[in-house]
Amino acid sequence: MNPLGDGLPRFPDFLPGEVWLAGAGPGDPGLLTLYALQALRTADDIVHDALVDPRILELAGNPSKLIFAGKRGGRPSSEQGDINDLLIERARMGRRVLRLKGGDPFVFGRGGEEALALTRAGLRFRIIPGITSGLAAAALAGIPATMRQTNHAVILAAGSRAADGTSSVEWEKLARVGQPIILYMPMANLAEIMSAFERGGMPRDTPAVIISSATTSEERVIETHLSTAAVEAAKHDITAPAIVIVGAVAAMRQQLLANMVGWR
Ligand code: SAH
Repeated sequence: MNPLGDGLPRFPDFLPGEVWLAGAGPGDPGLLTLYALQALRTADDIVHDALVDPRILELAGNPSKLIFAGKRGGRPSSEQGDINDLLIERARMGRRVLRLKGGDPFVFGRGGEEALALTRAGLRFRIIPGITSGLAAAALAGIPATMRQTNHAVILAAGSRAADGTSSVEWEKLARVGQPIILYMPMANLAEIMSAFERGGMPRDTPAVIISSATTSEERVIETHLSTAAVEAAKHDITAPAIVIVGAVAAMRQQLLANMVGWR
């Protein structure tokens, strides 16, 4: 029987000594995968980062399984090497270790580094993809990532890379691709990145939408433009976690909003 109940396919067993690297999605527990839920229910240890929503951690049923290993206020409170060591140590003890991350573990989540460390340590691991926050936040704000009329690609970029020196040139190049850009971790460098996009030829009035704490009760959505995004974000006191979508698709929101039913 499936541990989540009858009628569901039989999932793989979470074996002692395995690490499951799973995505928890953007926040709302309804957007968790069934595999991740199974892992939450069956893991011995749950090593989670700061972005995993408390409502999701509650699904583990037992707070004593939870181990916080993440970043707070942009400063690493756990070094990546320490986290790798913790996962390896627990797995070697024969524990079933769930490494739970916000969104998708392989999208700006350092999941790749952890998978490499587990491989080097000779440990078995499984990857459970999650709904990445950039796409989920956009979708729930009424912004399709692609529309045949406007774009045939979408760029996911890490805004934590400051727009100075060579990075600035890289941002200009991305703007020249002419496709919508979804920025993760953009807040610290928003003004610089938007200026680089302008230098890269993006029109000043390109639609931009800023979404913070998507799918939580703190969610905020600001509709703006390339040239005003940084000022608007500061004016509304937008803080991390937030994503910014820049491009024609961002304007779709206005057409979809009237009939769109929210999740919460
Ligand atoms: N692996 C994650 C991304 C980790 S990087 C994923 O796939 O979503 C951390 C960044 O993710 C944050 O700075 C923010 O840009 C974004 N993010 C995560 N959760 C978010 C949320 N609920 N709302 C808005 N942005 C979010």
